Amino acid sequence: MTGSGVNGMIGMEGGRVEESIGELRRTFRSGETRSAAWRKAQLKALLQLLRDNENKIFEALKQDLGKHPVESYRDELGVVEKSVKYSLSHVDEWMAPKKSSLPLIFFPGKGQVLPEPLGLVLIFSSWNFPISLALDPVIGAISAGNSVVLKPSEQAPACSSFLANTIPLYLDSKAIKVIEGGAAISQQLLQQKWDKIFFTGSPSVARIVMSAAVKHLTPVTIELGGKCPTIFDNLSSPSDTEVAVKRVVGGKWGPCNGQACIGVDYVLVEEKFASHLIEMLKKTIKKFYGENPKELKDISKIVNKHHFQRLHNLLKEPLVAASIVHGGLIDEEKLFIEPTILLDPPLDAEIMTEEIFGPLLPIITLKNIEESIEFINSRPKPLALYAFTNDEAFKRRILSETSSGSVTFNDIIIQFVCDTLPFGGVGQSGFGRYHGKYSFDTFSHEKAVLRRSFFLELEPRFPPWNDFKLKF
Ligand code: NAD
Repeated sequence: MTGSGVNGMIGMEGGRVEESIGELRRTFRSGETRSAAWRKAQLKALLQLLRDNENKIFEALKQDLGKHPVESYRDELGVVEKSVKYSLSHVDEWMAPKKSSLPLIFFPGKGQVLPEPLGLVLIFSSWNFPISLALDPVIGAISAGNSVVLKPSEQAPACSSFLANTIPLYLDSKAIKVIEGGAAISQQLLQQKWDKIFFTGSPSVARIVMSAAVKHLTPVTIELGGKCPTIFDNLSSPSDTEVAVKRVVGGKWGPCNGQACIGVDYVLVEEKFASHLIEMLKKTIKKFYGENPKELKDISKIVNKHHFQRLHNLLKEPLVAASIVHGGLIDEEKLFIEPTILLDPPLDAEIMTEEIFGPLLPIITLKNIEESIEFINSRPKPLALYAFTNDEAFKRRILSETSSGSVTFNDIIIQFVCDTLPFGGVGQSGFGRYHGKYSFDTFSHEKAVLRRSFFLELEPRFPPWNDFKLKF
């Protein structure tokens, strides 16, 4: 178990990091990771790892985040299983050289685009989906034939330790290693030369990663978050409204209790519809999580004291506290914050200027729902934009007049599990994309190959120059 395991938690010395990286580079140079057979064997082994360790994964997620096994399967294990299977069934096709038709001037010749692995890649993952956000990019890196170092988040220690202890038992540890630890070990890793860095996390750490990448001109993919808006238009039927409210509640408090980069950050709604929406949200919260706010079921905890305090501070601001229309109950010992709804908190309060990343939901009222376009455009570009509307003209305006990593009409979060759509941000929500074929591309270089023959020489391309060659 070179370079991984619980020892990594107390930090790996610089020498051991270099030793591990040396071994990974040698493996990559040996060419072993390039073959389809190696890639498929690793993907199959990963699938086996997931199948054999379902209960351990549920246990680790329970310990770190209080996730219910159903939520853990839906958002983590199931997501990774689906991605592995998708990659397994497409990797041959993705690896194959693609014929490129050539302009006549290249005749006789043949053009190809040949995907090649980048080499040795470093993957940083975050704590909120500590299994899926670690393994999903690893699947892309393996499918593309790279050697990999995964650095899981130290803020989900049970999951980090599970990955570090289990991956070497299934995958080729000469080519794939997990290195555990926090900022110190990350800094050591960043001093090394990589062929690609894939980072999921916060903008402040992304800046550190990008500064380090500059030294070796290392390409980076940066997956950040931000404030994802949900536009809630007046829907044409009560049944559509009911479905929409369910999806907002399930999307806000369901995945990791609001600690999700593509979770709903705030809702935009017309003034006249706000009180009806709030009543429906309250009713649905009770239906999903129970009547007694002190004993809510099926809801994750806040990850740690630091984040609990951060969220509590957002709520403590007097004008924000005064805007609470539902919830607000907190329990520091249990790291619990009740699903909380706020009506029109001040727009300059931190709850409306910073990513919330927790179970607090501001509802912002507008005179006319079309004002939501200006509202969104006056803020940094979000990772996801959601809009519940039946109005096709409004949908077209949203698509053409706003910018975001993704737009989902009439649902929440579900775009994340669609292998055929790219996942990634724009502007302050990050850059680069992954999932399905996009993951393969993210960890590959598309090499242009041109094959020419020796006959049919075009003499005017060579000196000596004269007027005839200029006209040619
Ligand atoms: P973070 O930036 O604190 O940590 C991310 C990774 O960076 C971890 O592996 C961590 O160990 C490492 N790290 C921490 N300090 C470091 C340092 N000084 N130098 C180098 N590396 C360091 O982020 P987080 O708290 O784990 O995640 C929360 C953020 O991530 C939120 O902003 C959220 O929106 C975003 N996020 C984005 C996505 C996405 O897919 N786009 C998914 C989940 C979370």
